[in-house]
Amino acid sequence: MRIGVPKEIKVHEYRVGMTPASVREAVVNGHEVVVQKDAGTAIGLFDEAYEQAGAKIAASAEEVFAEADMVVKVKEPQPSETKMLRDGQILFTYLHLAADPDQTQALIDSGCVAIAYETVTDQRGGLPLLAPMSEVAGRMSIQAGAHCLEMEQGGRGQLLGGVPGVPAAKVVVLGGGVAGTNAARMAMGLEAHVTVIDINLHRLYELDLQFGPMLNTIFGTVQSIEEHVLGADLVIGAVLVPGAAAPKLVTEEMVRKMKRGSVLVDISIDQGGCFETSKATTHADPTFIKHDVVHYCVANMPGAVARTSTFALNNATLPFTLALANKGYRKALQDDPHLLAGLNVHQGELTYRAVAEATGHRF
Ligand code: NAD
Repeated sequence: MRIGVPKEIKVHEYRVGMTPASVREAVVNGHEVVVQKDAGTAIGLFDEAYEQAGAKIAASAEEVFAEADMVVKVKEPQPSETKMLRDGQILFTYLHLAADPDQTQALIDSGCVAIAYETVTDQRGGLPLLAPMSEVAGRMSIQAGAHCLEMEQGGRGQLLGGVPGVPAAKVVVLGGGVAGTNAARMAMGLEAHVTVIDINLHRLYELDLQFGPMLNTIFGTVQSIEEHVLGADLVIGAVLVPGAAAPKLVTEEMVRKMKRGSVLVDISIDQGGCFETSKATTHADPTFIKHDVVHYCVANMPGAVARTSTFALNNATLPFTLALANKGYRKALQDDPHLLAGLNVHQGELTYRAVAEATGHRF
């Protein structure tokens, strides 16, 4: 099979669909890979490395799309890219179609076979191609939060870990899933005083087993959230209710009562945010202050560490990319119900119920 890797064109997107190591795996498996010139240059993955891995470098996106049997990307195709897709061509990337009826229609019209990273499942009911980005965002939230606690950023001038003789900051993590666990782990590493709040008792049990007395685990109620948030220096919002907007666990009233200069990092902002005072921000202007509390609400946190994010994403996508290339998409989907769960559009037909319900398209 011929696999095509175009350069991402969405604003501020520096990740790339395949690393040179992934290209090499595909080539060893007997496939040809065409990578667009400078696809990974911004994150230090240069054309020479791709050539050494066995890729052919193409001058333009047009060339990549024209030559590829399967296009492997990161972000949903932009209108200029959707136009280049053709009947029967496989598209493997993040799509997030539920929020995007125009793109859904364009993919249906193209006749392509669109497999979305975000709906591929695993045996434990998880979303293995979303998890790496939650890991990145969770770990990054503590870095971002620590920075926001500095005076210059409007923070209360507090070091997360304190120093001998001075108490550590109190970090409260709402939601102990993938992002929340990674946030808690980083905060513990910096020797902050860390509490995770979740409504899934089994998850709290697992966290307690994993981290022992280093981590305070609390069952989530309005009462416990209020108590811990009001005492916190840094609060990380990392809750998820699959398929729904994030619950507003921290009300504006609570934010008003928080300590002056404390910090909220709302990782859940891509699902609407779990603090009532959140509004989405960008890496160019990541924070704002409301009621004397610093808010960091960047919807695409992994974009800031595009190099790490690219490798993390490739580790998760590569087995599926290879299965699609080695077996052809029909057999690969037949053999693996978890990959089949990723199929959103198949040659002119929408094949994912939740997208049909959200966009009003026929299923
Ligand atoms: P996850 O499913 O692994 O974890 C979510 C946790 O929230 C679960 O443990 C669940 O029990 C808990 N939860 C649900 N409702 C709750 C409530 N009312 N109170 C307390 N806990 C509750 O999800 P995840 O992969 O960790 O993702 C978390 C969020 O981060 C999602 O909204 C995801 O879209 C977002 N995310 C954002 C970025 C970004 O750049 N901003 C990047 C990656 C992920």
